[in-house]
Amino acid sequence: MERFGFAISKGRQIDYDANSRHIAGYISEREPSFRVCIECGCCAATCTTGNFTSFSLRELHILLKRGENESVRENIKKCMLCGKCTLVCPRGVNTRNVVTLARQAFQKFPADAV
Ligand code: SF4
Ligand code: SF4
Repeated sequence: MERFGFAISKGRQIDYDANSRHIAGYISEREPSFRVCIECGCCAATCTTGNFTSFSLRELHILLKRGENESVRENIKKCMLCGKCTLVCPRGVNTRNVVTLARQAFQKFPADAV
């Protein structure tokens, strides 16, 4: 098919109705500090894994809260649980526990069903 140099791009809007926030809910119930994250990025700036890869805890927090879980499922395994991010978080988020709970939740809900 002739494209005339153009292509239809996938929409970039966030469809909250299509996303499922059950992983974020699982974490929030057990670690309430997850809710007070302001997505400042201090954790990502100091992250040991982030120094060598594109891993970003800030990004994972945002995706979990949006319910875009599938992109987090594999990425969250890269965290080494070193705890540096917990030391620098200005909101006192227990980031290591957030990561641990997220991993637990992904095991508990293998298929990302609602
Ligand atoms: S440092 Fe704390 S408040 Fe900032 S993005 Fe990370 S978890 Fe959220
Ligand atoms: S605990 Fe994980 S997210 Fe936090 S600094 Fe260490 S590797 Fe990065």
